[in-house]
Amino acid sequence: TAAGLGLVSLQGSRATDPSRRSADELQSIADAAGVALEGASALEIAKWATDTFGARFCVTSSMADAVVAHLFSRVAPGVDVVFLDTGLHFPETLKVRDTVAATMDVTVRSIRPRMTVGQQDGEYGPRLFARSPDECCFMRKVEPLERALSEYDAWATGLRRDESPTRAGTPVVSFDARRGKIKVNPIAAWTQPEVDQYISRWNVPVNELFQRGYTSIGCWPCTRRTTAGEDPRAGRWAMFEKTECGLHQ
Ligand code: SF4
Repeated sequence: TAAGLGLVSLQGSRATDPSRRSADELQSIADAAGVALEGASALEIAKWATDTFGARFCVTSSMADAVVAHLFSRVAPGVDVVFLDTGLHFPETLKVRDTVAATMDVTVRSIRPRMTVGQQDGEYGPRLFARSPDECCFMRKVEPLERALSEYDAWATGLRRDESPTRAGTPVVSFDARRGKIKVNPIAAWTQPEVDQYISRWNVPVNELFQRGYTSIGCWPCTRRTTAGEDPRAGRWAMFEKTECGLHQ
């Protein structure tokens, strides 16, 4: 949109300035961009983000698919793509990560938890995910993400409003006050058919598990197939009153 493009030129002069911005500055950038870019195309939002934050920007990907990583590779070749390598991913997920690293113009950064799965089992007992998934997610996802994000002012995700009721209000740009970072969700307004169209148009790597009844993919112990009519995220932590890992809360 014109409003979105106006914002690009307003913030674009900082593209070469790698200095860390203050939380207040980031908050006001997010407030303005959240309004200006609502209704902008995903590519416009991606361009704004990379122009504005330069090297202090990364994409995060769960490697369910590589749509957002691909989108950003078009406007910022070599962009950092952070993957949280929990040690409990399906082999199919690691295959997507490796394909992305080998075939796309991005820099994949696999971030590991401080403890291996074996060390965690030794300290907290085996199968912590089955007893206390919040603790397990904190150690294997939330803390590693925060460590990775310390190098950046802003990060992009593939969150979409139509994924689940809990994500229906996802803004395209917001300030994550807890982390002091800007969160960019360029495909927030996309529907599943639009995602499918993009994948097919650009031949984007996709997790093979989608062809086997999975509609949302996380670590193997906490992901099951869904049935027709179920919320796409119903297969995540299905045995618990838990719908999010803590990365997006
Ligand atoms: Fe642990 Fe499950 Fe969270 Fe993965 S999704 S970090 S296995 S609780």
